[in-house]
Amino acid sequence: MSDPLGWLDDALADLDRRALRRTLTARRGPQRGDRIEIGGQSLVNFGSNDYLGLASDPRVAAAVRAALGDYGWGSGASPLVTGRSDLHAELERKLAEFEGTEAALLFPSGYAANVGTICALVGKGDAIYSDELNHASLIDGCRLSGAAVHVYPHRDVGQLRQLLIDSRQVRRKLIVTDSLFSMGGDRAPLEGLAELAQRYDAMLLVDEAHATAIFGATGRGLAEEAGVEDGVHIRVGTLSKALGSLGGFVVGGRTLIDWLANRARPYVYSTAAPAALAAAGLAALELIAGEPERRQTLQQLASFARHEFLRQRVNYSGAFSQIMPVRIGNPHQAIAAAAHLRDSGFLVPAIRPPSVPEGQSLLRISLTCLHTERQVEDLVAALCEVAR
Ligand code: PMP
Repeated sequence: MSDPLGWLDDALADLDRRALRRTLTARRGPQRGDRIEIGGQSLVNFGSNDYLGLASDPRVAAAVRAALGDYGWGSGASPLVTGRSDLHAELERKLAEFEGTEAALLFPSGYAANVGTICALVGKGDAIYSDELNHASLIDGCRLSGAAVHVYPHRDVGQLRQLLIDSRQVRRKLIVTDSLFSMGGDRAPLEGLAELAQRYDAMLLVDEAHATAIFGATGRGLAEEAGVEDGVHIRVGTLSKALGSLGGFVVGGRTLIDWLANRARPYVYSTAAPAALAAAGLAALELIAGEPERRQTLQQLASFARHEFLRQRVNYSGAFSQIMPVRIGNPHQAIAAAAHLRDSGFLVPAIRPPSVPEGQSLLRISLTCLHTERQVEDLVAALCEVAR
């Protein structure tokens, strides 16, 4: 009898041939932004989104332990049934306060927040305008919503304007973008997007996943830095990157949040995160407010790294942030480059399609405030051998 799953062997072999197959790894012990033990090797870790080093902070762990004592572990049900504890409510209140909005809603992940929010806001008969390099969770939300999806060239406000002009008859319009692009480390033209949203009566959703707690005068992200928070109707964030934890959130007006609590399906139909996770989020929010030097250190390190790239003449994208991609192009070469770096003691992930478009494989270097200048200098020296 033939095996109905037999085709998978061929499909995986095809991924292998094209250097697109992913293999599972398992680290040992905590992951720190700067250090990781993996496959029996201790490596300097340039593959983490724990930008502020909070994932292994003992004060976060202590908050989790205390909450475990009071609340146990599992939450037992979706938030609308019995899953939402007073710690969840407190974290939502604190997130709204931090973000300067009326309200906030916690989701199981940033992925769920994007998919659930987009699908709750638009559907058949509506139109979405999406940057071609948006994160997969935004793309999947667009696809699942049933709305017509117009993908505009990366950061191209002029093309977006044309698309909006061409679709004046649509019922509802939604523009969606990453604020800091997760692979390129470059920024969305938020001023231009906010202006277009206002002019063409569109909703604007900005995903600040990689910018929360890093950019802006008070750390609210790139909408704050660009001074356009009032023009961004829906802001998505995640606790999983600079906040060192797990779980997504949406902040905005009270009616938006009430609507999402009723209609965002991942919110309604997924079990709430454990209360102890909310405790971790609360502890992390306190730490970023009390220790702004973490993000200052990160910014300084990003400046230093940029300088090193230029000094040692390694070609990188040039955008200024804690995410520094080195473009390789071919996925086979990207894997070879990552393997070479690993042999030199550095973990730098080789990012390949479908995470980036065909022909645009890259090494994604992410800096954290725990890295030292020496580590960056040594990494760039090792990169000289693979990416000049
Ligand atoms: N948005 C962006 C831009 C991301 O990079 C990610 C995570 N890679 C997400 C959303 C999803 O967040 P989470 O990991 O919390 O699901």
